[in-house]
Amino acid sequence: MNDKDQRPVYMDHAATTFMRPEVLAAMAPYFSRYFGNPSSLYRFARESRKGVEEARMQVATALGAEPEEISFTAGGSEADNWAITGVASALRKKGDHIITTAIEHHAVLHTCEALEKQGYRVTYLPVDGDGRVDPGDVRDAITDRTILVSVMTANNEIGTVQPITEIGRVAHAHGVLFHTDAVQAVGAVPIDVDALGIDLLSLSGHKFYGPKGTGALYIRRGTRIESLIHGGGQERGRRAGTENVPGIVGLGRAIELATADIEGHNRRIAAMRDRLVRGVLGSIPDTRLNGHPKQRLPNNANFSFRYVEGESILLLLDAHGICASTGSACSSASLEPSHVLLATGLPHEEAHGSLRLTLGDANTEDDVDYVLEVLPEVIGRLRQISPLTPACARMPEVE
Ligand SMILES: *Cc1c(COP(=O)(O)O)cnc(C)c1O
Repeated sequence: MNDKDQRPVYMDHAATTFMRPEVLAAMAPYFSRYFGNPSSLYRFARESRKGVEEARMQVATALGAEPEEISFTAGGSEADNWAITGVASALRKKGDHIITTAIEHHAVLHTCEALEKQGYRVTYLPVDGDGRVDPGDVRDAITDRTILVSVMTANNEIGTVQPITEIGRVAHAHGVLFHTDAVQAVGAVPIDVDALGIDLLSLSGHKFYGPKGTGALYIRRGTRIESLIHGGGQERGRRAGTENVPGIVGLGRAIELATADIEGHNRRIAAMRDRLVRGVLGSIPDTRLNGHPKQRLPNNANFSFRYVEGESILLLLDAHGICASTGSACSSASLEPSHVLLATGLPHEEAHGSLRLTLGDANTEDDVDYVLEVLPEVIGRLRQISPLTPACARMPEVE
């Protein structure tokens, strides 16, 4: 048996990932040797500037974009905030209506709510039981006041991948800009901003084995957008502040590695995930898999276990050295049931008993075996003591 006190079984890659050694190695010289400010004019600063511009090229290449369409940010949340508020203020004269979905990340939802307080109108589209948005609903919601459609590429909780090609097509047919939060999708879903009809796209380094606090916003050439952060003329005057040079260099190297072999990566991860899902559904009664059965991220498994609470599951798994999540990281702290699961029509009790396991590059078949050994025992124990469990669903006591 592995000694699980040594190394936790980490199955929470949707929350964050470890950083690849190659990424750390690429960053290291920019913390010490090449510390120059990229805006400075002397030759010494040229290395820093070169590092930033090479990373911009790496991000652009990964998305099928041009380097001047990439602006670096301090993460996915900033990119989401910027895309939405930036377009909203730039196009205020044209319209005041934004269309998004009920299952977006809070970086999108709370930004839209803030805009509502300023007088904008926002439509939060529903999703079906698998968490998919109907492009027909997008079309029906568009009015002559609509300026932006924002629909995530893939959901962080249930992994459902949206029909963004169709959604982008609908938006463009009506002359409306299309933003997608692709934070969970980069490295798992092949992205070509032209083929997918994307005008703005958010990404975040720490979700694909890069550094935390780094991200980027893709802005299609010619798109009107206001700055979020005002100050110096960095990022072509669009995003002020001295560049996070090591972080940007790491982001560039990480996206290059993450998109080098998406198909091979997905095949390996999905095989482990599928075995995990089969094992859990086969050994634990009164369990459902949340999210779309097929159109989902290869690393995502999200379950609802009736009669038990997600928080209790997490605590017991943690005692066994397993890192997992219930709902999203934010909702697990607030004890509110996940807005995503509720939007798929799951009743409160089942939304409360949810568990998200998200696999990543360091997971092994041993990790899957270990979770399949521990989880049924954990759920069984919790159901024994849960007042919600009907007598007939209690498993026999194990000595
Ligand atoms: C993690 C995440 C974000 C936020 O990214 P940060 O870099 O942590 O700010 C936004 N959207 C989705 C879908 C995410 O998973």
